[in-house]
This record gives sequence, structure tokens and C-alpha cells, in this order.
Amino acid sequence: MGRAFVYVILGGGVGAGYAALEFTKRGVSHGELCIISEEPVAPYERPALSKGFLLPEGIPLPQDSWGKLTSREVIQSPWFDNSKKICGSPPARLPSFHTCVGANEERLTPKWYKEHGNCSSYHTLLLLVLMRMIKGTNLYWIFNYMSNVILCRDLHSEFLVGIELVLGTRVKSADVKRKTLLTATGETISYKILIIATGARALKLEEFGLNGSDARNVCYLRDLADATRIVDVMQSGIGGNAVVIGGGYIGMECAASLVINKINVTMVFPEEHCMARLFTPKIASYYEDYYEDKGVKFIKGTVLSSIDMNSDGKELILGDESHLPADMVVVGIGIRPNTALFEGQLTLEKGGIKVNGRMQTSNNSVYAIGDVAAFPVKLFGEIRRLEHVDSARKSARHAVAAIMEPEKTGEFDYLPFFYSRIFTLSWQFYGDNAGEVVHFGDFSGNTFGAYWVSKGHLVGSFLEGGTKEQYEAISKATRLKPAVEDLAELENQGLGFALAA
Ligand code: FAD
Ligand code: NDP
Repeated sequence: MGRAFVYVILGGGVGAGYAALEFTKRGVSHGELCIISEEPVAPYERPALSKGFLLPEGIPLPQDSWGKLTSREVIQSPWFDNSKKICGSPPARLPSFHTCVGANEERLTPKWYKEHGNCSSYHTLLLLVLMRMIKGTNLYWIFNYMSNVILCRDLHSEFLVGIELVLGTRVKSADVKRKTLLTATGETISYKILIIATGARALKLEEFGLNGSDARNVCYLRDLADATRIVDVMQSGIGGNAVVIGGGYIGMECAASLVINKINVTMVFPEEHCMARLFTPKIASYYEDYYEDKGVKFIKGTVLSSIDMNSDGKELILGDESHLPADMVVVGIGIRPNTALFEGQLTLEKGGIKVNGRMQTSNNSVYAIGDVAAFPVKLFGEIRRLEHVDSARKSARHAVAAIMEPEKTGEFDYLPFFYSRIFTLSWQFYGDNAGEVVHFGDFSGNTFGAYWVSKGHLVGSFLEGGTKEQYEAISKATRLKPAVEDLAELENQGLGFALAA
């Protein structure tokens, strides 16, 4: 049993959604493109899972979560419940966050794929075959015009695009020489061009030699099923205690969501401060103080050697024998890219699949995008693998451009960009956090930041609480890599440096 496509995207996450949109913009023909995903839903904006998806229903957000809205704007907002006099954003649920809403693009709902991918009837199929035969002739355009007028259907666009969405289906092996994928259901899918968009999986406690991953109320967060489970566990534990293991992105964002759900949170991680891979101690201290004001407790520098929920699930025992009350545990201890299908077949680097500036792997017919791809970052002259949504979106678009219009597509020229939103806080980072660091702004107020300077040039910029213009300015300045001669002067100028660059 088998099917053949010109283009196959393996994986149905962020990269896949943005690649699909790009394919349709560039005019892929009906039936040429297939997406295979282990997830049972069409591609969605994964970042929503640790933010909007975990918001409580019907519980008012604290007043400071209304952000900078005036009281009049709060009352006029769609989330204001006049009868209860409360304002709380409703939790995000599909279909609202299917790709590509995160980049203010079209929302690719299951209907979108259906309309763009499947022949709705035998007659339509015949029409499409006929149109394929006369494509490029005047007759084709006349025919298409008539179909619009008489049938009120745009057969032209139905003819030009076409996406087969194979959901809930895991690919269990790949053969890049034969250009085939074998699914867990036993189907062989062959391709001319393959885009690998398999993302990553969450690391489990067992992989660190710890027990307890499968204990009751121990949650991870990578996909919709995980997020749904967290919501269920949270709802049964409102007012209870949660322990968050890991002080990275998942740890910080989930801790904030748990607090908003009125759950007491303790964060446990091995480093001296949160977000140790990106934040300086000074930046981290701002966020930790903010979290502590919200009631979060920190246990830092703790390496777990065992984790056990005792029989009634009410207590967590850490490796140093300390006991923590825990109705639930959320684990965010990093990820591993899903490369296993291609090990021994494609060149790997930095834990991912190595690609060139066209996102092409060591096999000409295979491309890789998103979390799984290790690509040359021109700006820094080295291969990097990034685990962030902006890079997944842009690498996806670039790969499709390189596939569909190779002569017009140059090397991927990407400025690394990370961001997070927690409580009412919001930060953005551009570039590289290497070299010496210079802080600026008001760390006791709402807007502050940092620059990283390496070999006499600005290479990275961080800003909390900026305006759209200010974020654009630090992004632009970081890409320009201006020379910095005097660090004290840079500190004095602060944001002014980026705004003037
Ligand atoms: P993914 O989106 O992970 O998609 C991979 C897909 O491949 C999945 O659908 C998976 O099921 C499928 N797959 C894997 N193996 C197989 C197989 N063998 N067969 C079939 N299908 C397979 N980044 C930010 O920059 N900002 C944020 O605020 C942010 N928030 C995040 C919040 C959460 C909770 C998570 C988990 C990540 C967040 N990220 C954020 C990171 C961002 O979501 C990822 O970088 C991005 O999703 C990567 O896209 P991708 O397409 O490479 O992989
Ligand atoms: P991170 O790599 O950001 O953080 C993992 C954290 O867990 C680190 O603090 C790490 O410490 C710590 N850790 C590792 N092992 C243990 C252990 N045994 N016990 C306790 N702590 C441990 O990964 P996350 O899991 O937070 O995030 C997963 C992925 O999701 C990442 O790719 C991330 O980019 C993405 N994501 C991005 C978001 C964003 O960009 N806003 C939001 C949410 C997720 P150490 O550094 O010492 O190993």
C-alpha cells in the first residue's frame, strides 16, 4: 500500500504550517503536497500552549494583568464580564491558534486544508484533470473565469493548491535513498522532495537517571495532549501546591500560568538563577523578585537525584531529602530534536540535522527546518540549532522558496530572535548573548535591557517592556553589529544607542 507525492513535510507543527502556507502562495499543484503528523490536529502555534491555553476560565486575572488598559478599555474589552464585574482573558482553544496567526497571517484551519487539498467530488476531479491538460492556454483562463461566474467556485485556486493532511500518523522509518517513509499504519509514502519538520521531544526525568516520570500528576509540556493534561490536573488542584522542575522557558512560563490559576508554586532548578542560558544574574534577579511578589518560591542549585510522589501524591521528595508539598509537578528540563529516523543517513551536527543556507541536508532531495535543523547563522559565521518559533517560521518559508524558486533564493540570513510573555511582563532578545554585557534602563521600573558586546561589536540585545519601535530599533541595531568602543558610554546611552543606530 502506498502513495506518492512531489513534496512531503514530515511533522505537523509550526514549521509545517508555515511551509504549507508558503507552498500555496507559490502555487503548488493539486495533490502534490502531503503533511504527515503524529499529532491528531492540524498545525498550530505551539507557544500558545504555555500561555493562553493555560489561562483559567472564569477566574478574573489580577488587576495588573490588564496591562496598560484604562478602566474604560477594560470594561469595553470582549473579556469583561459585566454581570460579575471581572475581566479575564478566555483560555485559547483550537481552532483559534492554528498556524499562521502568530505571524498575523491566514489561519490554516482543518477546513483550509480540506478546501485547498481535497477534490470535493468526482466531477471536480474531472474538471481539474481537464484544466491540467489545458493549463497555460487561453482556454484555461476562459474556463476558469466561466467556472467562477457559473459555479461561483474558484477552480483555478483549487487547481493550483492541494494539501493532503495525514494526521495522527507516526512515521516509523525513512529511507532517503529510496525516497520513502513508512508509517506506523504500514503505508509507504514516497516523495521527490522531503522537508523534515519533526521538531523535538521533551526530556524525561528517567533520562537523567531519575524515577517518577510516570507518577500521578507529573506533567510535561510539548504538545496539545500535554497541555490538556496540565489543565485537567490544574483544575483538580486549584488552591493546591505545584512544584516546577527546571528554570528555563517551560519552567518560567508554566509557573506564571499556575499562579494565575491560584496554585502555590515552588520552582526547583540546578542553576544559581532562572533562565541561566540567556539571562544575566541582574536580569534574572528582576524576574525572580517579580515572581516572589506573586508568591513563587525558588529552590536553586538543587540537582535532583530522585523524585517520588508518595502514595497519596501529596509530597515530593527531592534528592537532598528535602520534602515539598506537591499536588502536581510540571517538568521542563529541556528537549532533544527528533532526528532518530535519519541517523546514519544524513549528516548531523549540534544535535540536529545539518543543512546549508538553503535548508538542504546532506541529501539533495531532503530539507530540514525548525528545531531539528542545524543551519549556518551568517551573522555569526557558525552553525547553530535554534529552538524558537520565529526561526521555525522563517526557516520553513526559506526552505520552500529554495525548493520552488531555487535560482531566485539566496542563503538564509537569519537574526536569532527569542521572546517570552509572563504575567504582564514581556521581553525580546535578538542576536547572541556572547562577550561582555552592559545593562541599561530602570531595573526598578518597567523598561530595562542589556547589550552584549563581543570583539568590539554589538552582538546581542535584550529589552523588557519595550514599545514596538524600541524592539524594532534593538533588532535593527543588532543586525548592523555596530562598533562599540566605550562600554561606559554604551551604558549611558542605553536604548538611545539602538534608536540612533
Ligand atoms: P514542532 O512545532 O515541535 O512540530 C514537530 C511536529 O512533528 C509535531 O507535530 C510532531 O508530532 C511531529 N513529529 C515528530 N516526529 C514525527 C514522526 N516520526 N512522525 C510523524 N510526526 C512526527 N518559541 C518561542 O520563540 N517563543 C515562545 O513563546 C515559545 N513558546 C513555546 C511554548 C511551548 C509550550 C513549547 C513546547 C515551545 C515553545 N516555543 C516557543 C518553541 C517553539 O514552539 C518551537 O521552536 C517550534 O514549535 C518548532 O517548530 P517545529 O516545526 O520545528 O517543531
Ligand atoms: P530549557 O532548556 O529552556 O530549560 C531547561 C531547564 O531545566 C534549565 O534550567 C536546565 O538547567 C534545567 N534542568 C535540566 N535538567 C534538570 C534536572 N534534572 N532537574 C532540574 N532542572 C533541570 O528547556 P525547557 O524545557 O524550559 O523548554 C523546552 C523547549 O521549549 C525549549 O526548546 C524552549 O526553547 C522551548 N520554549 C520556548 C519558549 C520561549 O521561547 N518563550 C517558551 C516555552 C518553551 P541546565 O541549563 O543546567 O541544564
